[in-house]
Amino acid sequence: MIVVSKFGGSSMKDHEAMLRSAQISKKQNSTITLVSATYGTTDQLHELVELSVGGKWNECEKKLFTIRERHFDILQNLTGDQLVGERLRELFNNLETLTRGIFLLGECSEKAKDRMVSFGERLSSLLYAEALKMTWPEKSVEHFDSRRILKTNSQYGKAKPQLSKIRTQCEAFFKLDGSIAYVGQGYIGSDDDDFTTTLGRGGSDYSAALFAEGVKADVLEIWTDVAGIATTDPRIVNQARPINEISYDEAGEMAQYGAKILHSSTLVPAMREKIPVFVGSSYAAEERGTWIRESVTEKPLIRAIAKRSNQALLTIRTPKMMNSFGFMGRIFDIFTENEISVDCVSTSEISVAISTDEINLKNTRLIEQLSKLGEVNSEAGFSLVSIIGNEMLHQPGLGKRIFSAIEDVNVRLVCLGASAFNFNLLVSNDQADETIKKLHGEFIS
Ligand code: ADP
Ligand code: ASP
Ligand code: MG
Repeated sequence: MIVVSKFGGSSMKDHEAMLRSAQISKKQNSTITLVSATYGTTDQLHELVELSVGGKWNECEKKLFTIRERHFDILQNLTGDQLVGERLRELFNNLETLTRGIFLLGECSEKAKDRMVSFGERLSSLLYAEALKMTWPEKSVEHFDSRRILKTNSQYGKAKPQLSKIRTQCEAFFKLDGSIAYVGQGYIGSDDDDFTTTLGRGGSDYSAALFAEGVKADVLEIWTDVAGIATTDPRIVNQARPINEISYDEAGEMAQYGAKILHSSTLVPAMREKIPVFVGSSYAAEERGTWIRESVTEKPLIRAIAKRSNQALLTIRTPKMMNSFGFMGRIFDIFTENEISVDCVSTSEISVAISTDEINLKNTRLIEQLSKLGEVNSEAGFSLVSIIGNEMLHQPGLGKRIFSAIEDVNVRLVCLGASAFNFNLLVSNDQADETIKKLHGEFIS
């Protein structure tokens, strides 16, 4: 049985969290364990980039010191192994040299940034391998560099995997007879020139799914700080409850529409290989957790609610659209050309309204190109609230229930009809949590 396990940043918070996670790797007999950077480190590495670009060397030194202390502290509380200490020191020297280079240049390319932030996982995985050796002395634990295996394109900051190369690398590298427990890094990969890339924030989940696909794993396990996927983000609704079982389609919609618990692309490789995915808490491994599978026994009308904040609404208006064809095609071509995904679309005879991540408003090329087709109006500050469930296209009265529950909320865009698994509403960021609470109260609590 091949098990790929991934532990997130909160499961790598300190030596205790690492040892707790190591108990899980041992109990689950994990073949490959991928880990995230220690809690908060990726954020701090991003801050380090900002500080060095901004010419604040003293602040950079303080930040480097904080990150260094945290990691050496964990090592001391684990094996204190000298060789590992040497490897940490070497990594910190490299990190400092790179930071200095960016400081002197006063700029940082996306390529250099990926190299900088990759240190988080490279450091934490060395420590986790020590925790696993302590916990599982009878096993041969092997630390490896995921960049050798996870081959991607050169889209730094949000690299796309090269699936056939990953598979080939997996086949060549891993010995899957159960004799070795491998420990590597989530989030990072490398391009054809062997430059470091990253899969985007929260990308360790996606890494784990790609490794699981590459080795044709029997199970993919995502260990985090909550006992599985809940009916909505527990930080928004206290009464959110864990979901025992959910289909790939529904969980995919949840991840796509903002449920932070899974990176949006995680389920794609798992679905391709039909690998069941388990999500559980490394703090309470005995709790039930969530199984994500192709088919599930219970299919409630509404299972969960997700939120994707900071959305923009773009409206492209032109009288020329009247009785014309090809207009929509041209709009979507522009989004495709700019590699920007569109979430919701609504059309009238002379205008099209599209919701997308707010950050895309900064893309001047996109706005210029759209402006050639018609008058473009953009508004920011929205959240997409996604109601996720089953058979939503065949439920008379569902709309009435939804809109009665949120009658005080101003809904700017509605999307239903493309999939039976979700019903999306665009509301202002200010009203999003209230909308979720009311909908959760009406349909789930
Ligand atoms: P990790 O560091 O382990 O990857 P994340 O912080 O990325 O963990 O994801 C876990 C967090 O996702 C939870 O602490 C929770 O606040 C948030 N979350 C958002 N939506 C949900 C949901 N539907 N169910 C459970 N957790 C959710
Ligand atoms: N460490 C990376 C991040 O914080 C990747 C991850 O944890 O999934 O975004
Ligand atoms: Mg995460």
